[in-house]
This record gives sequence, C-alpha cells and structure tokens, in this order.
Amino acid sequence: MPELPEVETFKRYLDSTSLHQRITNVDVRDAYVLKRVSARQLARGLKGRRFKNSHRHGKHLFVRAGGELWLRLHFGMTGSLEYLDGDEVAPKTARVIFRFADNCRLAFDDQRKFGEIELIKDIDEFLQTRRLGPDALGITLSQFKAIVGKHRGAIKAILLNQQLIAGIGNLYADEILFRAHMHPAIDVARLSDKDLARLFRAIRYVLEKAIALKTDFNRLPKSWLLPHRGKDGKCPRCGRRLRSAITGGRTAWFCPHCQKRTSRS
Ligand SMILES: [Zn+2]
Repeated sequence: MPELPEVETFKRYLDSTSLHQRITNVDVRDAYVLKRVSARQLARGLKGRRFKNSHRHGKHLFVRAGGELWLRLHFGMTGSLEYLDGDEVAPKTARVIFRFADNCRLAFDDQRKFGEIELIKDIDEFLQTRRLGPDALGITLSQFKAIVGKHRGAIKAILLNQQLIAGIGNLYADEILFRAHMHPAIDVARLSDKDLARLFRAIRYVLEKAIALKTDFNRLPKSWLLPHRGKDGKCPRCGRRLRSAITGGRTAWFCPHCQKRTSRS
C-alpha cells in the first residue's frame, strides 16, 4: 500500500514527466475511483489546462491544473502512475488516462480500485475536512513531542493515525519501530524524552532513505526489518525469529528480543 515514500516517488515521477503539457483528453475507464466528480466533469475541468506543479501531504498527491484547480490523487492499496509514450499500451488496470498534446499519456493504474481521484479548489480546506495531521516529514522534534505527548495508547496506533501525523502506514511503521528498538504495543505514556527523540530520528531516517531508494524493496538495506518481515523471517540484528501481533487493527511484525515493551532510557 503506497505510503509517504511511495507517494513522494510518484510525485517526483509526475514532476519529471507530466508537467507543462496541454491536456487534450481525459479517458475515464472506470469511474469507481472518481470521488465527488463525474467523468464528464473531470474531463471538462482539465481539458485545455496543464499540470503546473504538485504538492504532497501524507499519502495524498495534489497536482495543480492552473488557477485554483487541483487534481487530488490517493493511491489506496495498489495505485500507481505510469507515463506512456505515443504507442505504448496502457495497463489493463489503468482507471484514468490523461492524454497530452504530444500524444503521451499519464495513466492512473489501480488494480484493486481503492484509489481516489478528485478535483478540489483548496488544499488546506481539504486537509481540514479530512482532519489530517501534519506531514510526517514536515514536523520538527518539538512538534512531534507535542503531538505524541497528548495521546495515550500503543505507539504503533499513534504512528498510523493520519489525523495525528500523515503519511506513515503499516510497513514503514514496523520499520521505524524496529529501528527505534520499540515494541509496537508500548504505551506512549511510558516513553521518555530520549525515546521520543530516537523515534523521531527513526521516522526521518526510514522515510528519507526509502525515498532515496525510490522505494525499491529489493534495494532496501538487509539490516532493515522489511526484507525479512513475514512468516519465518529472522531478525537481521539478533537472528531470532520475528513475531507478529495485531496492534492498532493492523498486523505488526517485530523482534521480541530487540524491541522491548519498556523504555530504554
Ligand atoms: Zn532481534
């Protein structure tokens, strides 16, 4: 499921392929992913315009289509972007295809159709309506401490709560907690100032490193949890078998030896 690093990678891909070209057609192949906009409205709204620039917040990507019109993309479980040259065939699961004046196209591909496409006028208004928290890469340590300090409960549930901090999903939350040597179910009330600083550094490191690797899981460091995450996986630090548990409604994988339920400091 695309999390902050994947969506940032899509943003950079879109920026490097699809800006400044006149949009000549919008082909909606499956209107299921359209939210609060019909296929006709989407096409009418975008035809003749150009994508000017883009902005990411958490797992949402906003693409300015001139004036005060933004295309909002959310990638759900399986969404991605694919830029196609003149006669390249679009993937079967492309749901919406934006065609440009030079006949190149940008396809919004989404096999499972949990993705969302919408036209909005104002990003801030959208963020407020969804009550989304600040972006995980846009906060300072003191903001992070203030956000986490106001809450109780399992740290993993706090990291996954998009209304507190936007962008972290199930996989990177496990990696962040592994790096910070924290059990996913540890209550945030038990974390010291030092623990929170360590956790904050782990968030930045994991997200930035994943972006730098263009979220290619084959290139993730072997010292990370993710390449080993799953049944029969072994901890890359101590070699013991990884365990899973349900925390915050999602399956967490962790090393019971390296990730303790108590504060380290
Ligand atoms: Zn371990």
